[in-house]
Amino acid sequence: MEKIIPVTKNQELEVEIIDLTNEGMGVARVDNFAIFIANALPGEIAEIRVVKVLKKFAFAIVLELKKESPDRVPAKKELLQTGIAPLQHLAYDKQLEFKQHQVEHVLKTIAKMPDVPVLETIGAKNPVAYRNKAALPVRRNEGKLEVGFFKKNSHDLVPMTDFYIQDPKIDEAAQVILGILERYNVKAYDEKNQVGFLRHLLIRRSDNTKQMMVVLVTNKDKFFKSAEIAETIVRELPEVVSVIQNVNPENTNVILGKVNHQLIGNGFYEDTLLGKTYHISAASFYQVNTPQAEILYQTAIDFADLKKSDVVIDAYCGIGTIALSLADKVDHVYGVEVVHDAIVDAKTNAAINDVDNVKFKAGLAEVVMPKWQEKNIHANVVVVDPPRKGLAESFIEATVKMNPERIIYISCNPATLARDLRLFADLGDYKVEKVQPVDVFPQTTHVETVVLMSRVDK
Ligand code: SAH
Repeated sequence: MEKIIPVTKNQELEVEIIDLTNEGMGVARVDNFAIFIANALPGEIAEIRVVKVLKKFAFAIVLELKKESPDRVPAKKELLQTGIAPLQHLAYDKQLEFKQHQVEHVLKTIAKMPDVPVLETIGAKNPVAYRNKAALPVRRNEGKLEVGFFKKNSHDLVPMTDFYIQDPKIDEAAQVILGILERYNVKAYDEKNQVGFLRHLLIRRSDNTKQMMVVLVTNKDKFFKSAEIAETIVRELPEVVSVIQNVNPENTNVILGKVNHQLIGNGFYEDTLLGKTYHISAASFYQVNTPQAEILYQTAIDFADLKKSDVVIDAYCGIGTIALSLADKVDHVYGVEVVHDAIVDAKTNAAINDVDNVKFKAGLAEVVMPKWQEKNIHANVVVVDPPRKGLAESFIEATVKMNPERIIYISCNPATLARDLRLFADLGDYKVEKVQPVDVFPQTTHVETVVLMSRVDK
């Protein structure tokens, strides 16, 4: 029998919030039917309005909070709307608990490892103004160029000048650059009609080296007065060491296109991390929170318990940060990464830091790992740091065949982490020893986790 849906669109009702989803939405239930409510915390009682009704659940907004949670802190509303800081209304220590519980939950339900303890999330000293990178959509609004953030699940731009979780120097630079582009009459891209020119403004900055990189993502190749514009940017923002035009003509949500033109500089900027210097190119991945990335990698290195005779594989190595941070402690490191520019950076980074016991290879980890295994490359420690989708089964199979003593898994997605931990336990003789969440993305629902697995010798 068809289940009766107990709420209707635009209905107003009072509910108690009983839970918080992984996406940071409050959950209420009416006759066991779930309603998801932004900006609502467990324990709160709220007058809500239902805004969308689907078959199995509905969405609602808060009209009035009748009872506030003691864990609530004042929040900036426009930011909540856009979803760039969906947890900012929750006290920071509670955010850390929320993340620890997320990891505990998937270990029980997905990995089927209910007895593995999860350590307390390591928090950030500065839980705001931490992002070293901004990728800002540009729009023209009433004749003015603006940057902002897309509202959750939409491409409606919410104009913004203070991004709260970004390095404020990046926010300031964005306004200076928009001013320059206005003066040169640069057109913003219009996504709906696919006309116009400037799609995104990308800014990366190191607070350690005070270097900045600016990428102007354009719809077409021809960029009138681009050299002059780049010179003006560097003159008005002396920290900028590279200005790049990236051309992306595709109708896509992917921000960067394939073609780069270096307008000024050599296409990279530098940051320092755990005492080493890194060249970072426009297309290369780099953790957005440098101090917390240091804690994340140091945790991984501590878990790896390295010896001078160890051979280590750093899979999904990016620009080589993990490989180079641990190279001095071991005999040899192999790194693999799919983005070619990142491997170019990684090789440069080895050279500028005088590290000569690492080899970096461009390729898919799930293809290169089986090849290394067949060639009898034996690593006794394997570190993996994959993107959100986690590891391919073929990668796990090859790793298990290589039979390292320890595997360190750094994950940005607890669900795929848990799935993969189960596979390691099923396909090989690996036991999860330690699970450490690290808060690399304060005010958001995201969490990084470092896991130590050891081979159980029988
Ligand atoms: N360890 C690095 C990068 C981690 S992010 C750091 O901390 O900076 C994940 C990286 O995996 C990205 O650089 C991405 O380009 C790369 N990647 C994604 N899919 C891959 C695959 N199938 N094989 C190899 N690398 C991949």
